[in-house]
Amino acid sequence: MISDIHGNGTALEAVLRRLGEERLDHVVCLGDIVGYGAEPSRCLELVRTHCSVCISGNHDRAAVDPRVLLWFNQDAATAVRWTREVLTPEELAYLEGLPEAALDEGVRLCHGAPSNPDRYLFDAAGAGAEFTEFEEALALVGHTHVPGVYVCREGDDPVLASYRQELAAEDVYVLEAGHRYIANPGSVGQPRDRDPRASAMVVDLAAGTLTLARVVYDIGEAQRTMSAVGLPERLIRRLAAGS
Ligand code: ZN
Repeated sequence: MISDIHGNGTALEAVLRRLGEERLDHVVCLGDIVGYGAEPSRCLELVRTHCSVCISGNHDRAAVDPRVLLWFNQDAATAVRWTREVLTPEELAYLEGLPEAALDEGVRLCHGAPSNPDRYLFDAAGAGAEFTEFEEALALVGHTHVPGVYVCREGDDPVLASYRQELAAEDVYVLEAGHRYIANPGSVGQPRDRDPRASAMVVDLAAGTLTLARVVYDIGEAQRTMSAVGLPERLIRRLAAGS
């Protein structure tokens, strides 16, 4: 499972190479293929080649609907406007056609919160209320660019009992029968948890495990492609900081 690629083709290629070693049935993408980074077309092509399911993120929607840009900060809006200019009509039509959510093998896929694709789930209190917004045992979400798992234990009031579990690289998190989970794989193209490595998650439904994969990629190359097309300096710098 991948999310929040944000036009970082160097990171996406490294992540897909790593996931290719895992003998996965398929790869799903939780949105924000474009925005921030300098290679939206390369990322779209890779996602369309490698992902069986993809939903839209707020940056994907902003690239095709300028009204969404009203909610963006200046640098993000600059990057989305640039993205819109360089994508072909066919690529924009693909973004426009992406669904806001999906169900894949009984797993709910959302960009932000299950109740609202633009809502960020940063803490257990925010996540707790979301467990009443979907029926499946597992929902996968992106949007925050921070990996983690929220748990609602069987029989507990979700608003009171959910809690957040940080995940470190290669941590194997075991899903327990009866409990329900919201898991975030972190971001491929712009991690914000102070670890600049690209982030993705391996979901093994048969074994009942989630494994966080952190992948080293050539950050300098991604930064140079952004500089070459004049994207905002702050967006270039933050890749190295993972923030
Ligand atoms: Zn994002």
